[in-house]
Amino acid sequence: MKTAVIGYPRIGENRELKFASEKFFKGEISENELNEIAKEIRVQNWFKQLTSGISFISSNDFSYYDNVLDTAVLFNIIPKRYSNLGLSEKETYFALARGYQGKKGDVKALAMKKWFNTNYHYLVPEIDDDTEVKLVGSKPFNEYLEAKKIGIETKVAIIGPFTLLKLARYTGNKKKEDFKNALVCGYTSFLEKLNELNVKWVQFDEPYLVKDIDETDKAFFVEIYKKLLNKKGNVKTLIQTYFGDVRDVYKELTSLDFDGIGLDFIEGRKTFELIECNGFPNNKLLFAGLVNGKNIWKNEYSKTIDRIKSIETRANVNAEKIVISTSCSLLHVPNSLDSEKKLSDDYKKHFAFAKEKLTELSELSILAGISGCESDARYIKNVELFRNRKNVIDEAVKKRVTAIKDEDYTRLPAFEEREAIQKEKLNLPAFPTTTIGSFPQTADVKRNRKLFKKAEISKDDYIDFNKKKIAECIALQEEIGLDVIVHGEYERNDMVEYFGEHLAGYVFTENAWVQSYGTRCVKPPIIWGDVSRKEAITVSWSKYAKSCTDKPVKGMLTGPVTILNWSFPREDISIKESTLQIALAIRDEVLDLETNGIDIIQIDEAALREKLPLRKSDWYSEYLDWAIPAFRLVHSGVKPQTQIHTHMCYSEFTDIIPAIDAMDADVITFEASRSDLLILDSLKEHNFKTEVGPGVYDIHSPRVPSTEEIVEALKKMREKIDDSKLWINPDCGLKTRGERETKESLINLVKAAKLIRTA
Ligand code: GLN
Ligand code: ZN
Repeated sequence: MKTAVIGYPRIGENRELKFASEKFFKGEISENELNEIAKEIRVQNWFKQLTSGISFISSNDFSYYDNVLDTAVLFNIIPKRYSNLGLSEKETYFALARGYQGKKGDVKALAMKKWFNTNYHYLVPEIDDDTEVKLVGSKPFNEYLEAKKIGIETKVAIIGPFTLLKLARYTGNKKKEDFKNALVCGYTSFLEKLNELNVKWVQFDEPYLVKDIDETDKAFFVEIYKKLLNKKGNVKTLIQTYFGDVRDVYKELTSLDFDGIGLDFIEGRKTFELIECNGFPNNKLLFAGLVNGKNIWKNEYSKTIDRIKSIETRANVNAEKIVISTSCSLLHVPNSLDSEKKLSDDYKKHFAFAKEKLTELSELSILAGISGCESDARYIKNVELFRNRKNVIDEAVKKRVTAIKDEDYTRLPAFEEREAIQKEKLNLPAFPTTTIGSFPQTADVKRNRKLFKKAEISKDDYIDFNKKKIAECIALQEEIGLDVIVHGEYERNDMVEYFGEHLAGYVFTENAWVQSYGTRCVKPPIIWGDVSRKEAITVSWSKYAKSCTDKPVKGMLTGPVTILNWSFPREDISIKESTLQIALAIRDEVLDLETNGIDIIQIDEAALREKLPLRKSDWYSEYLDWAIPAFRLVHSGVKPQTQIHTHMCYSEFTDIIPAIDAMDADVITFEASRSDLLILDSLKEHNFKTEVGPGVYDIHSPRVPSTEEIVEALKKMREKIDDSKLWINPDCGLKTRGERETKESLINLVKAAKLIRTA
């Protein structure tokens, strides 16, 4: 059986691309030097796949920043404000990705959004009425030739025209339909060029097809590909889908003239059913996504081989037509276990990062081809692994989850009654001011954490330093005149890893970085077993903060859904069950904070939307129906006078406002300044009951907002939100900001609050 990889991580085994790019941005290395490092990464990636015997290896899966941006640039989708800067090609590319501020002008970056249901972010192509879509670049051809030169025949991967047009943003009057013909021409030129180069296979990535596709879009998709496939020449075409199943377009997909169809059998709940019930055309290859491209656990061979057998027998796909593939690009997993020096083999043997997944593909292809593979050593070893999987099972945790009662998901008394009690108890001014939690993480703060981690300073020194920072931070907030005080989060590197480190059931890696966007990588912790709280996590910091001031201090926690969504989850229990375990752990922390006199507690759910299913019909049944109650479980045990806050940012909220209200927090702060306050309409429309602080300025910029502009924003908010429910705050944590602009911005924020209180 043949094997295929949709795409390979491109950041480099030790994040070489990240570091080289950052140096290039600072002018420390030349463009040539950056290109050399990039080439090295591509060559290494190809060789790894070649030596693992992968039959279909991609080229053009590499990117300097993002492959949606690459595709936009390839087809000349570059707004004038960037092309007019007069920069070099590479500089223009990075200006689109990161913005440009210099002698030649000042432009912001393109908008960035989450790539489907992942934590990877793509740049949103921007098309205006003047955009002249046509093939102008040569990246895919160059990379194909580069691989060819070292003897590797690759399939050329590219984002397909349908997904590209669906993800783009149209800033003029024209809509996607108006660019269809031009884009088809562009892709036709692209195919012509591939024919000239004698390319054997092209891979069109069309993940958008796993979303809900209505009749209009279906027709649009069919029309594009009918035209395009007419011109394919000798190049074989693979249409690659991932992150779900293609139930709305399966018939169309299978009747179009593709040579291969890539389907996801991991996240595609209905994929098998689709091929079983409708059959699969015998003139096409089925690229079966059977090795999980998103998670880090070893593949369970017995199950996968059974699946392959049932594809052959029940769906009647001939073995020669099946290609064993990853379920999506391996971009979403870390590079290789080789660089995990500290992690014991007891753990490592259960994991497969990108490189190890190559071995899995090749072993599976061999095993699937031999009858009686059950007696093969590789098979037996894998079966043993699953028989002896030692995910730490904690009976007490399991019992606690089973014992959760319906009423544990409901906080009493109801919101309105609590609201009155809290107003009286907290006695805050109208339009209370606060921040989201973190204060600038200056070099001394990072250094203190680092020294402590390396055991170069004592625990007492570490704590004393943080206490000093907390005291200063509180003095500053008092001086500025903020109403609800935070401790500043100096003890945290990251809002998920920090909690993971204090929970039983987690495992950490040294080097398992995954690209989040551009040069930014994250290192998600791994949920290894049943999760419980080992000890109080934040209580001592909050208690100390409280002792520094007479004003109310807000405790600061990360919520269970965000902790789960930013970790690698287990596969042996459901993510719902894992989330409930985490919820119980955080619930203990909430109650501890309350006992210790903290009467405002914020529980951040920044990643709540991330795992929202891609199909609307699944939103509640598959996700919100347990994710929202899991949040309520965290805070349902507190007294009516304890005020629960939550915070969310940088996702699309307007369509899940009722679900957010159902979290039943007392106050929610969120990012709104970037999305031009669009969310306010939705709040009003749904009669949002929770008190709300839509961020009054964008913390991602060092710019200091003026008092007038904050007052303006507040005016707009007051049109849609009742005065008695409106809070005033920045739109996210301040940890990435400098101290000067933080202070100046907050001073203006408090001035604005005073102005509207007295107006
Ligand atoms: N409390 C966190 C902070 O202020 C929230 C971070 C976030 O929303 N990503 O840093
Ligand atoms: Zn935030």
